[in-house]
Amino acid sequence: MTAATSVHCNRAGCANSAPPALSSAQLCLDHFLDEAFVRSDQALTRCREGIPLSKESLEWLLSDALATVKNLEESAEEPCPEQRDRMLELLLILANLHEYVAHHDVHFERPA
Ligand SMILES: [Zn+2]
Repeated sequence: MTAATSVHCNRAGCANSAPPALSSAQLCLDHFLDEAFVRSDQALTRCREGIPLSKESLEWLLSDALATVKNLEESAEEPCPEQRDRMLELLLILANLHEYVAHHDVHFERPA
């Protein structure tokens, strides 16, 4: 078993601890969800408006964020209904994003 080191969320003023799935990101569940919602929303808006988006950002959403939320969903010991709803909502948004990217030409920012 892994040592139970508790990692705290790195957001200013946040006293929550980061769940194991988020210990490397140093974010608590709420802040991770906030971040993922903002980023997926931006990515979808950019896709729809034909604005180039960053490849790293899209990759983060479709691989890291997706894997993390699935992991969280499976490992949540005490899924608070509100957080659970947000996780499911995020999965839905990521699925939409994935679908969109698979069927449209997405413009990426040129590497600097
Ligand atoms: Zn936090």
